[in-house]
Amino acid sequence: MQTRRTVALIVAAGSGTRMGSDIPKQYAMLGSRSVLAHAIDAFASHPAIDSVQVVIGAGQADAYAAAIGTRTLPPPVTGGAHRRDSVAAGLAAIDGDRVLIHDAARPHVPAAVIDRLIAALDAADGAVPVLPVADTLAHGGTALGAVVPRDGLVRVQTPQAFALPAIRAAHAAWNAAQEATDDAQMVRAAGGTVATVAGDPALEKLTYSEDLMMAQQRASDLVVRVGSGFDVHAFEPGDHVILGGIAVPHSAKLKGHSDADVVLHTVTDAILGAIGDGDIGDHFPPSDPQWRGAASDRFLIHARDLLTARGGILDFVDVTIICEAPKVGPHRAGIRDNIARILQLSPKRISVKATTTERLGFTGRGEGIAAQAVATIRMPEDA
Ligand code: MG
Repeated sequence: MQTRRTVALIVAAGSGTRMGSDIPKQYAMLGSRSVLAHAIDAFASHPAIDSVQVVIGAGQADAYAAAIGTRTLPPPVTGGAHRRDSVAAGLAAIDGDRVLIHDAARPHVPAAVIDRLIAALDAADGAVPVLPVADTLAHGGTALGAVVPRDGLVRVQTPQAFALPAIRAAHAAWNAAQEATDDAQMVRAAGGTVATVAGDPALEKLTYSEDLMMAQQRASDLVVRVGSGFDVHAFEPGDHVILGGIAVPHSAKLKGHSDADVVLHTVTDAILGAIGDGDIGDHFPPSDPQWRGAASDRFLIHARDLLTARGGILDFVDVTIICEAPKVGPHRAGIRDNIARILQLSPKRISVKATTTERLGFTGRGEGIAAQAVATIRMPEDA
Protein backbone atom coordinates (compact mmCIF):
# COMPACT_ATOMS: atom_id res chain seq x y z
CA MET A 1 0.00 0.00 0.00
CA GLN A 2 1.18 3.50 -0.81
CA THR A 3 2.11 5.38 2.34
CA ARG A 4 1.11 9.02 2.30
CA ARG A 5 1.93 11.43 5.06
CA THR A 6 -1.03 13.34 6.47
CA VAL A 7 -0.59 16.40 8.69
CA ALA A 8 -3.25 18.12 10.80
CA LEU A 9 -2.73 21.91 10.74
CA ILE A 10 -4.64 23.54 13.59
CA VAL A 11 -5.08 27.30 13.34
CA ALA A 12 -5.20 28.72 16.87
CA ALA A 13 -4.08 32.28 16.05
CA GLY A 14 -7.41 34.03 16.65
CA SER A 15 -7.69 36.67 19.35
CA GLY A 16 -11.24 35.60 20.18
CA THR A 17 -12.58 39.14 20.56
CA ARG A 18 -16.16 38.03 19.95
CA MET A 19 -16.11 35.90 23.10
CA GLY A 20 -16.05 38.93 25.40
CA SER A 21 -13.28 37.43 27.51
CA ASP A 22 -9.58 38.18 28.10
CA ILE A 23 -8.38 34.77 27.04
CA PRO A 24 -8.85 33.68 23.40
CA LYS A 25 -11.43 30.90 23.29
CA GLN A 26 -9.02 28.24 21.95
CA TYR A 27 -6.96 28.52 25.16
CA ALA A 28 -9.97 28.44 27.52
CA MET A 29 -10.65 25.29 29.54
CA LEU A 30 -13.35 22.88 28.43
CA GLY A 31 -13.68 20.19 31.09
CA SER A 32 -10.20 18.97 32.10
CA ARG A 33 -8.46 20.15 28.89
CA SER A 34 -8.14 23.37 26.92
CA VAL A 35 -10.32 23.84 23.83
CA LEU A 36 -7.12 23.54 21.72
CA ALA A 37 -6.04 20.33 23.48
CA HIS A 38 -9.38 18.68 22.61
CA ALA A 39 -8.72 19.31 18.90
CA ILE A 40 -5.06 18.24 19.17
CA ASP A 41 -5.98 14.99 20.92
CA ALA A 42 -8.66 14.17 18.34
CA PHE A 43 -6.11 14.35 15.52
CA ALA A 44 -3.15 12.88 17.41
CA SER A 45 -5.13 9.77 18.38
CA HIS A 46 -6.38 9.16 14.83
CA PRO A 47 -4.34 6.42 13.11
CA ALA A 48 -4.36 8.20 9.73
CA ILE A 49 -2.80 11.42 11.08
CA ASP A 50 1.02 11.41 11.15
CA SER A 51 1.66 14.74 12.86
CA VAL A 52 -0.09 17.78 14.30
CA GLN A 53 1.16 21.33 13.70
CA VAL A 54 -0.38 24.30 15.52
CA VAL A 55 -0.31 27.94 14.33
CA ILE A 56 -0.58 30.49 17.14
CA GLY A 57 -0.93 34.28 17.22
CA ALA A 58 1.86 36.70 18.11
CA GLY A 59 2.20 36.89 21.90
CA GLN A 60 0.31 33.62 22.50
CA ALA A 61 3.35 31.40 23.28
CA ASP A 62 2.63 31.25 27.02
CA ALA A 63 -1.09 30.57 26.53
CA TYR A 64 -0.17 27.84 24.02
CA ALA A 65 2.32 26.20 26.38
CA ALA A 66 -0.27 26.14 29.17
CA ALA A 67 -2.95 24.82 26.81
CA ILE A 68 -0.95 21.85 25.49
CA GLY A 69 0.51 20.81 28.86
CA THR A 70 2.80 17.77 28.55
CA ARG A 71 1.87 16.92 24.95
CA THR A 72 4.87 16.58 22.62
CA LEU A 73 4.34 18.55 19.40
CA PRO A 74 6.54 20.33 16.86
CA PRO A 75 7.16 23.96 17.95
CA PRO A 76 4.17 26.19 17.09
CA VAL A 77 4.35 28.43 14.03
CA THR A 78 3.46 32.10 14.55
CA GLY A 79 0.69 33.23 12.20
CA GLY A 80 -0.16 36.59 10.66
CA ALA A 81 -2.79 39.30 10.80
CA HIS A 82 -5.47 37.34 8.90
CA ARG A 83 -6.47 33.69 9.02
CA ARG A 84 -5.18 33.28 5.47
CA ASP A 85 -1.68 34.49 6.54
CA SER A 86 -1.72 32.06 9.46
CA VAL A 87 -2.66 29.11 7.26
CA ALA A 88 0.07 30.06 4.76
CA ALA A 89 2.66 30.19 7.56
CA GLY A 90 1.56 26.73 8.70
CA LEU A 91 1.62 25.31 5.17
CA ALA A 92 5.20 26.56 4.77
CA ALA A 93 6.28 24.76 7.94
CA ILE A 94 4.90 21.28 7.28
CA ASP A 95 6.09 18.37 5.21
CA GLY A 96 3.79 15.74 3.75
CA ASP A 97 1.30 14.78 1.05
CA ARG A 98 -2.04 15.73 2.58
CA VAL A 99 -3.15 18.32 5.11
CA LEU A 100 -6.28 18.74 7.21
CA ILE A 101 -6.69 22.43 8.09
CA HIS A 102 -8.77 22.96 11.22
CA ASP A 103 -9.97 25.83 13.38
CA ALA A 104 -8.97 25.36 17.02
CA ALA A 105 -12.33 26.82 18.07
CA ARG A 106 -13.99 23.54 17.02
CA PRO A 107 -12.84 21.29 19.88
CA HIS A 108 -14.79 18.13 19.02
CA VAL A 109 -13.51 16.37 15.89
CA PRO A 110 -15.22 13.00 15.29
CA ALA A 111 -12.84 10.33 13.95
CA ALA A 112 -15.45 9.35 11.36
CA VAL A 113 -15.31 12.85 9.80
CA ILE A 114 -11.51 12.53 9.45
CA ASP A 115 -12.03 9.11 7.80
CA ARG A 116 -14.56 10.54 5.33
CA LEU A 117 -12.36 13.52 4.41
CA ILE A 118 -9.27 11.39 3.77
CA ALA A 119 -11.26 8.91 1.68
CA ALA A 120 -12.71 11.76 -0.42
CA LEU A 121 -9.20 13.08 -1.21
CA ASP A 122 -8.62 10.04 -3.42
CA ALA A 123 -10.89 11.65 -6.06
CA ALA A 124 -10.56 15.41 -5.44
CA ASP A 125 -8.00 18.13 -4.62
CA GLY A 126 -9.89 18.98 -1.47
CA ALA A 127 -12.76 17.80 0.74
CA VAL A 128 -14.92 19.65 3.26
CA PRO A 129 -17.50 18.52 5.84
CA VAL A 130 -20.93 20.08 5.28
CA LEU A 131 -24.28 20.13 7.09
CA PRO A 132 -27.69 21.02 5.67
CA VAL A 133 -29.16 24.38 6.65
CA ALA A 134 -32.04 23.73 9.07
CA ASP A 135 -33.12 27.28 9.98
CA THR A 136 -35.10 29.58 7.72
CA LEU A 137 -32.79 32.06 5.99
CA ALA A 138 -34.00 35.57 5.18
CA HIS A 139 -32.68 39.03 4.47
CA GLY A 140 -32.55 40.98 7.72
CA GLY A 141 -32.32 44.57 8.94
CA THR A 142 -34.78 46.37 11.17
CA ALA A 143 -37.65 44.66 9.35
CA LEU A 144 -37.72 41.08 8.12
CA GLY A 145 -36.90 40.81 4.42
CA ALA A 146 -37.49 38.11 1.84
CA VAL A 147 -36.76 34.48 2.60
CA VAL A 148 -33.69 32.99 0.90
CA PRO A 149 -34.49 29.53 -0.50
CA ARG A 150 -32.28 27.10 1.41
CA ASP A 151 -32.59 24.22 -1.09
CA GLY A 152 -29.10 23.08 -2.01
CA LEU A 153 -27.46 25.32 0.61
CA VAL A 154 -25.02 23.79 3.08
CA ARG A 155 -22.97 25.01 6.02
CA VAL A 156 -19.25 24.34 5.55
CA GLN A 157 -17.25 23.20 8.60
CA THR A 158 -13.60 22.39 9.29
CA PRO A 159 -11.37 20.36 9.18
CA GLN A 160 -10.89 20.89 5.44
CA ALA A 161 -8.66 18.32 3.75
CA PHE A 162 -6.37 18.99 0.78
CA ALA A 163 -3.62 17.52 -1.29
CA LEU A 164 -0.72 19.61 0.02
CA PRO A 165 0.52 20.78 -3.44
CA ALA A 166 -3.02 21.91 -4.38
CA ILE A 167 -3.57 24.06 -1.28
CA ARG A 168 -0.05 25.50 -1.45
CA ALA A 169 -0.60 26.47 -5.11
CA ALA A 170 -4.00 28.01 -4.26
CA HIS A 171 -2.45 30.18 -1.54
CA ALA A 172 0.40 31.23 -3.86
CA ALA A 173 -2.06 32.23 -6.61
CA TRP A 174 -4.47 34.12 -4.34
CA ASN A 175 -4.87 37.89 -4.87
CA ALA A 176 -3.71 39.27 -1.51
CA ALA A 177 -6.05 42.26 -1.78
CA GLN A 178 -9.08 39.93 -1.61
CA GLU A 179 -10.57 38.30 1.47
CA ALA A 180 -10.99 34.51 1.38
CA THR A 181 -13.82 32.94 3.37
CA ASP A 182 -11.97 29.65 3.68
CA ASP A 183 -9.27 27.46 2.14
CA ALA A 184 -11.74 25.43 0.08
CA GLN A 185 -12.83 28.59 -1.79
CA MET A 186 -9.18 29.36 -2.56
CA VAL A 187 -8.64 25.88 -4.03
CA ARG A 188 -11.82 26.27 -6.10
CA ALA A 189 -10.68 29.70 -7.33
CA ALA A 190 -7.40 28.09 -8.45
CA GLY A 191 -9.37 25.58 -10.55
CA GLY A 192 -9.23 22.68 -8.08
CA THR A 193 -12.03 20.30 -7.18
CA VAL A 194 -13.46 20.19 -3.66
CA ALA A 195 -15.66 17.26 -2.61
CA THR A 196 -18.21 17.41 0.19
CA VAL A 197 -18.62 14.79 2.92
CA ALA A 198 -21.17 14.59 5.73
CA GLY A 199 -20.23 16.96 8.56
CA ASP A 200 -21.18 16.52 12.20
CA PRO A 201 -23.10 18.79 14.61
CA ALA A 202 -20.35 18.01 17.16
CA LEU A 203 -17.96 20.10 15.02
CA GLU A 204 -19.83 23.31 15.88
CA LYS A 205 -17.57 26.32 16.28
CA LEU A 206 -17.37 28.12 19.61
CA THR A 207 -18.04 31.72 18.59
CA TYR A 208 -19.79 33.38 21.50
CA SER A 209 -19.12 33.02 25.22
CA GLU A 210 -22.48 31.21 25.57
CA ASP A 211 -21.18 28.54 23.16
CA LEU A 212 -18.22 27.91 25.44
CA MET A 213 -20.46 27.78 28.50
CA MET A 214 -22.76 25.29 26.78
CA ALA A 215 -19.80 23.17 25.67
CA GLN A 216 -18.34 23.28 29.19
CA GLN A 217 -21.71 22.25 30.57
CA ARG A 218 -21.94 19.29 28.14
CA ALA A 219 -18.40 18.14 29.02
CA SER A 220 -19.06 18.22 32.75
CA ASP A 221 -22.41 16.49 32.31
CA LEU A 222 -20.75 13.31 31.02
CA VAL A 223 -20.84 10.51 33.55
CA VAL A 224 -18.48 7.55 33.79
CA ARG A 225 -19.89 4.13 33.02
CA VAL A 226 -18.23 0.72 33.03
CA GLY A 227 -19.30 -2.26 30.93
CA SER A 228 -18.04 -5.84 31.12
CA GLY A 229 -17.87 -8.58 28.52
CA PHE A 230 -17.20 -12.31 28.66
CA ASP A 231 -16.96 -14.86 25.85
CA VAL A 232 -15.86 -18.45 25.29
CA HIS A 233 -15.17 -20.41 22.13
CA ALA A 234 -14.27 -24.12 21.91
CA PHE A 235 -11.44 -25.54 19.84
CA GLU A 236 -12.01 -27.62 16.71
CA PRO A 237 -9.50 -28.99 14.19
CA GLY A 238 -7.47 -26.26 12.51
CA ASP A 239 -4.08 -24.57 12.44
CA HIS A 240 -4.61 -21.05 13.86
CA VAL A 241 -6.89 -18.95 16.05
CA ILE A 242 -7.96 -15.31 15.53
CA LEU A 243 -7.38 -13.20 18.64
CA GLY A 244 -8.13 -9.47 18.43
CA GLY A 245 -8.07 -9.71 14.65
CA ILE A 246 -4.57 -11.26 14.68
CA ALA A 247 -3.97 -14.79 13.32
CA VAL A 248 -2.07 -16.77 15.95
CA PRO A 249 -0.66 -20.18 14.85
CA HIS A 250 -2.03 -23.07 16.95
CA SER A 251 -2.77 -26.78 16.70
CA ALA A 252 -6.53 -26.01 16.61
CA LYS A 253 -8.92 -23.26 15.57
CA LEU A 254 -11.81 -21.71 17.45
CA LYS A 255 -15.30 -22.88 16.58
CA GLY A 256 -17.99 -20.30 15.94
CA HIS A 257 -20.40 -18.83 13.46
CA SER A 258 -18.20 -15.81 12.61
CA ASP A 259 -14.38 -15.98 12.72
CA ALA A 260 -14.82 -16.89 16.44
CA ASP A 261 -12.59 -14.01 17.58
CA VAL A 262 -13.21 -14.41 21.29
CA VAL A 263 -11.26 -11.20 22.07
CA LEU A 264 -13.16 -8.85 19.73
CA HIS A 265 -16.45 -10.43 20.82
CA THR A 266 -15.81 -9.74 24.49
CA VAL A 267 -14.66 -6.15 23.81
CA THR A 268 -17.80 -5.60 21.71
CA ASP A 269 -19.95 -6.87 24.58
CA ALA A 270 -18.12 -4.66 27.10
CA ILE A 271 -18.90 -1.54 25.03
CA LEU A 272 -22.52 -2.62 24.42
CA GLY A 273 -22.77 -3.23 28.17
CA ALA A 274 -21.49 0.24 29.02
CA ILE A 275 -24.13 1.88 26.79
CA GLY A 276 -26.84 -0.52 27.98
CA ASP A 277 -27.62 -1.74 24.47
CA GLY A 278 -27.98 -5.49 24.74
CA ASP A 279 -25.28 -7.90 23.61
CA ILE A 280 -23.51 -8.97 20.43
CA GLY A 281 -26.10 -11.70 19.77
CA ASP A 282 -28.91 -9.11 19.72
CA HIS A 283 -27.13 -7.04 17.08
CA PHE A 284 -25.68 -9.92 15.04
CA PRO A 285 -27.90 -13.00 15.53
CA PRO A 286 -25.89 -16.25 15.08
CA SER A 287 -28.90 -17.56 13.13
CA ASP A 288 -28.29 -14.95 10.41
CA PRO A 289 -26.26 -16.58 7.63
CA GLN A 290 -24.60 -13.28 6.63
CA TRP A 291 -22.31 -13.47 9.70
CA ARG A 292 -20.96 -16.94 8.79
CA GLY A 293 -17.16 -16.68 8.81
CA ALA A 294 -17.39 -12.88 9.13
CA ALA A 295 -14.37 -10.94 10.39
CA SER A 296 -15.33 -9.73 13.85
CA ASP A 297 -13.95 -6.20 13.51
CA ARG A 298 -17.31 -5.20 12.00
CA PHE A 299 -19.04 -6.13 15.30
CA LEU A 300 -16.64 -3.92 17.25
CA ILE A 301 -16.96 -1.03 14.76
CA HIS A 302 -20.75 -1.26 15.14
CA ALA A 303 -20.49 -0.99 18.94
CA ARG A 304 -17.98 1.89 18.64
CA ASP A 305 -20.34 3.80 16.32
CA LEU A 306 -23.36 3.21 18.60
CA LEU A 307 -21.35 4.69 21.48
CA THR A 308 -20.29 7.71 19.40
CA ALA A 309 -23.84 8.28 18.11
CA ARG A 310 -25.03 8.63 21.70
CA GLY A 311 -22.43 11.26 22.55
CA GLY A 312 -20.18 8.81 24.38
CA ILE A 313 -16.38 8.77 24.69
CA LEU A 314 -14.45 5.50 25.09
CA ASP A 315 -11.73 6.09 27.68
CA PHE A 316 -10.18 2.67 28.24
CA VAL A 317 -10.50 -1.03 27.44
CA ASP A 318 -8.86 -3.77 29.52
CA VAL A 319 -8.95 -7.34 28.15
CA THR A 320 -7.88 -10.63 29.72
CA ILE A 321 -7.37 -13.71 27.51
CA ILE A 322 -7.66 -17.00 29.40
CA CYS A 323 -6.06 -20.16 27.96
CA GLU A 324 -3.19 -22.65 28.38
CA ALA A 325 -2.19 -22.42 24.72
CA PRO A 326 -1.38 -20.79 22.37
CA LYS A 327 1.09 -18.51 24.15
CA VAL A 328 -0.45 -15.02 23.92
CA GLY A 329 2.60 -13.06 25.13
CA PRO A 330 4.36 -12.68 21.75
CA HIS A 331 1.11 -11.39 20.17
CA ARG A 332 -0.05 -9.05 22.95
CA ALA A 333 1.29 -5.84 21.41
CA GLY A 334 -0.11 -6.75 17.99
CA ILE A 335 -3.55 -7.51 19.47
CA ARG A 336 -3.50 -4.27 21.49
CA ASP A 337 -2.51 -2.17 18.46
CA ASN A 338 -5.18 -3.78 16.28
CA ILE A 339 -7.95 -3.16 18.84
CA ALA A 340 -6.71 0.46 19.10
CA ARG A 341 -6.84 0.78 15.30
CA ILE A 342 -10.41 -0.52 15.12
CA LEU A 343 -11.54 1.71 17.98
CA GLN A 344 -9.56 4.72 16.64
CA LEU A 345 -7.84 5.18 19.99
CA SER A 346 -4.24 5.48 21.08
CA PRO A 347 -2.78 2.05 22.04
CA LYS A 348 -2.14 3.64 25.45
CA ARG A 349 -5.88 3.37 26.05
CA ILE A 350 -6.00 -0.39 25.45
CA SER A 351 -4.65 -3.08 27.79
CA VAL A 352 -4.30 -6.73 26.79
CA LYS A 353 -3.41 -9.30 29.45
CA ALA A 354 -3.25 -13.09 29.40
CA THR A 355 -3.47 -15.80 32.03
CA THR A 356 -3.81 -19.55 32.34
CA THR A 357 -6.11 -21.26 34.84
CA GLU A 358 -3.32 -23.49 36.20
CA ARG A 359 -4.61 -26.44 34.11
CA LEU A 360 -7.99 -26.28 35.93
CA GLY A 361 -11.37 -26.23 34.22
CA PHE A 362 -12.16 -26.24 30.49
CA THR A 363 -9.44 -23.74 29.60
CA GLY A 364 -7.00 -25.72 31.74
CA ARG A 365 -7.86 -28.89 29.82
CA GLY A 366 -7.20 -27.04 26.55
CA GLU A 367 -10.81 -27.29 25.34
CA GLY A 368 -11.11 -23.64 24.32
CA ILE A 369 -10.31 -20.01 25.03
CA ALA A 370 -12.18 -17.57 27.28
CA ALA A 371 -11.80 -13.80 27.30
CA GLN A 372 -13.17 -11.03 29.45
CA ALA A 373 -13.07 -7.25 29.04
CA VAL A 374 -13.95 -4.06 30.87
CA ALA A 375 -14.73 -0.87 28.94
CA THR A 376 -14.70 2.52 30.70
CA ILE A 377 -16.71 5.20 28.93
CA ARG A 378 -18.19 8.64 29.55
CA MET A 379 -21.54 9.63 28.18
CA PRO A 380 -24.41 12.03 28.76
CA GLU A 381 -26.31 11.02 31.90
CA ASP A 382 -29.64 10.33 30.23
CA ALA A 383 -28.39 9.00 26.87
MG1 MG B 1 -18.29 -15.18 20.65
